[in-house]
Amino acid sequence: MRLARPDNRRGANFTTSTAWVSTSSIRKGPCRAVIIGSGFGALTAARRLAKAEVDVTVISRTSHHLFQPLLYQVATGLISEGQIAPQTRVVLRTQKNARVVLGAVERIDVAEGTVTVRSLDRISAFAYDSLIVAAGADQSYFGHDEFAEFAPGLKTIDDALELRGRILGAFEQAELSDNPEERARLLTFVVVGAGATGVEMAGQIAELASTTLRGAFRSIDPTDARVIPIDAACEILPAYGGRLSRRAAHRLERAGVEIRLETMVVDMDYDGLDVRDSDGRVHRIDAQCKIWSAGVSGSPLGRQLAAQTDVELDRAGRVKVAPDLTVPGHPEIAVVGDMVSIDGVPGMAPAAIQAAAYAAEGIRMRLAGEPTMPRERFRYWDKGSMATVARYSAIAKIPIPGTAKSVELAGFWAWVGWLVLHLLYLVGFRNRFTTLIDWMFSFTTRSRNQLAITEQQVFARTAIDELEQRRRDDAAA
Ligand SMILES: Cc1cc2nc3c(=O)[nH]c(=O)nc-3n(C[C@H](O)[C@H](O)[C@H](O)COP(=O)(O)OP(=O)(O)OC[C@H]3O[C@@H](n4cnc5c(N)ncnc54)[C@H](O)[C@@H]3O)c2cc1C
Repeated sequence: MRLARPDNRRGANFTTSTAWVSTSSIRKGPCRAVIIGSGFGALTAARRLAKAEVDVTVISRTSHHLFQPLLYQVATGLISEGQIAPQTRVVLRTQKNARVVLGAVERIDVAEGTVTVRSLDRISAFAYDSLIVAAGADQSYFGHDEFAEFAPGLKTIDDALELRGRILGAFEQAELSDNPEERARLLTFVVVGAGATGVEMAGQIAELASTTLRGAFRSIDPTDARVIPIDAACEILPAYGGRLSRRAAHRLERAGVEIRLETMVVDMDYDGLDVRDSDGRVHRIDAQCKIWSAGVSGSPLGRQLAAQTDVELDRAGRVKVAPDLTVPGHPEIAVVGDMVSIDGVPGMAPAAIQAAAYAAEGIRMRLAGEPTMPRERFRYWDKGSMATVARYSAIAKIPIPGTAKSVELAGFWAWVGWLVLHLLYLVGFRNRFTTLIDWMFSFTTRSRNQLAITEQQVFARTAIDELEQRRRDDAAA
């Protein structure tokens, strides 16, 4: 079965009345699949539809596919952003049934079957027969969005580069200061949240200070830097727990990291933060550079789906999809990845990948006219999880199939496993190769290749935010 395609190849964009024309009278299923996002979920879904007779439109507000697990290495200068963020349209170059659109989805209209996309000032609308929403999650500040200005999260390339600018900028400022109190404040780094990302960030900042930057300044000693991960839980890496969490904590403490548990952030400003300890007392920590890695909130697109359908959201704004990952009453809409809430399925890359493959299979079944309802529910195969703690040290927990037990690894061999797996998951041979080379240099020489910071990384975002706000204010006036 072939699709008759208009000359100008604008795909499903019907704003210019050039929608792809399908021989729909004989087609049994959906022919226009729109996929929102370009992360693990979206990319997997698009690739899984490569051989299906369907026009795939991948719409994302970022031009790249992002390998988030290595963002902390970009933030701390181990690797470059290009190594973990290949351009989506290049990745999908050879997939002839797929087109990539750069723009933010502003509206999903469930009744009309369209999504509206903004790219700068250009608004376009795309019709779909099937929709896969894989828009991920944002950082949650638990009702304190004002903290974002002082403690950026780590979700995007922009976040990572801004954090790199803030971390290295703090050392530069300390070098110029004659005031011991100010110096101490500039050399104190607080990471809020001691899950995998918080621990990885803390470990890397400690290593940056104690080895890479050692001897590079004349007025300060970078090894004086304090790195303080804070968490409300009673152990770090609570997803691992017990022996593995203790091993990781021990390794971090050996690197000079000061872990503060059962501690809640109650306030924050430019110069530091107020925290409440388990005894209920509030303390001040003076710290210029603060990083937020606690909590997620599902993409706002989930709220749009909830407003137009019967689907519910959990407390973090994630979509409570049906067991087959669709929106109840709308078999044409599947939601996958970090923006969904399913018992026992974590917000991790393998879960997004598996869910996207399952959702794409649903489209393929509808296309083939196979009965899709009732469909066997989505089952997540937990292959385990890993986190690096420091150089040559990681922890891993791998479930033993068919039992409630897991194999637990900590130390060098877990670290080797972590390296191999992350290399395999990186998209593109060139990225794998250059990352491996960078790692080999960094691990053996303790140097880092990506320590450049620019004014733009630190200031441009604030300037853009202000311009955006002014534009909104002008529009509202
Ligand atoms: C710092 C960090 C470290 C991590 N480490 C690990 C790890 O070690 N192991 C692991 O398994 N998992 C890890 N994760 C989690 C893992 O990265 C996520 O589970 C996974 O990326 C989820 O995939 P996704 O496709 O749902 O969302 P994402 O990968 O977040 O992709 C969302 C996509 O949607 C796009 N988007 C969002 N809103 C819109 C919109 N309105 N319009 C258009 N496009 C939109 C975004 O640009 C992005 O392309 C980590 C996450 C982070 C942030």
